[in-house]
Amino acid sequence: MNGYSIIDFHTHTFPKKIAAKAIAKLEAGGRSKAHLDGTPEALIKANAADRIDYSVSLPIATNAKQVETINSISAEFNGKNGIFFAGAVHPEREDIEEILDFLKASGIKLIKIHPDFQGARFDDERFIRIMREAAKRDIVTVAHAGVDLDYPDDVHCTPDMVLNVLSALDGIIDNKLVLAHLGGNEYPDEVLKKLCGKPVYFDTAYSLTGYPEKCREIIRKHGADKILFATDSPWVDRKEYLKVFFSLGLSEEENRKILAGNAAKLLGIYF
Ligand SMILES: [Zn+2]
Repeated sequence: MNGYSIIDFHTHTFPKKIAAKAIAKLEAGGRSKAHLDGTPEALIKANAADRIDYSVSLPIATNAKQVETINSISAEFNGKNGIFFAGAVHPEREDIEEILDFLKASGIKLIKIHPDFQGARFDDERFIRIMREAAKRDIVTVAHAGVDLDYPDDVHCTPDMVLNVLSALDGIIDNKLVLAHLGGNEYPDEVLKKLCGKPVYFDTAYSLTGYPEKCREIIRKHGADKILFATDSPWVDRKEYLKVFFSLGLSEEENRKILAGNAAKLLGIYF
């Protein structure tokens, strides 16, 4: 289909034991049907079928007690079989430094935070502390941004909250923050006005199919150096998603950066 190396920077997998239950629960929460069964094994096969070189799995600790289990799995499987794993943190944990030290020592490059699922606003001082400590250790924070389909009426990460975080962490988190869903799912106009040009990355997960024209505008205004191709698999059909991405009609150089170049730098991998 194309000659590009591809890294999918935003996917979700669950350990085999709980995958079926987790997927069913999330499907019931209002999102589309899953296209994979949610196991890492399915994602490994899909990487081959979809001609995607690497995928990044972003597990989320929905309560403070899950952190260790998730992080030991992430540490064990990170970088194997074409999948990189983020680590998990939770705002209710006091021992953030220790958690991040463990991730750093395990070679994990990213953490995922999801304000809606973790019961705090993105500009909550506990998240700010997590991001500050992560940045100090050169760990990148990936944050859900904008509307989550499970909580459509109570958005926990808006562009204004992002601005609060950037001013609280003045310079500290520059280029070490990835905002999912092109800066804010269902917030394209505010993202264009308030966030484009800031020293953060946007991933392309999920939002592309909803409003591709606006997405192209965001990508062009923000610059291809700070955009990461991502799908939100299993919640989209990745082959279709790639078609939508290519239909944006970006230049070959822009495609190369977005599809793999920028992500490879963040993950420390070389083709
Ligand atoms: Zn996601």
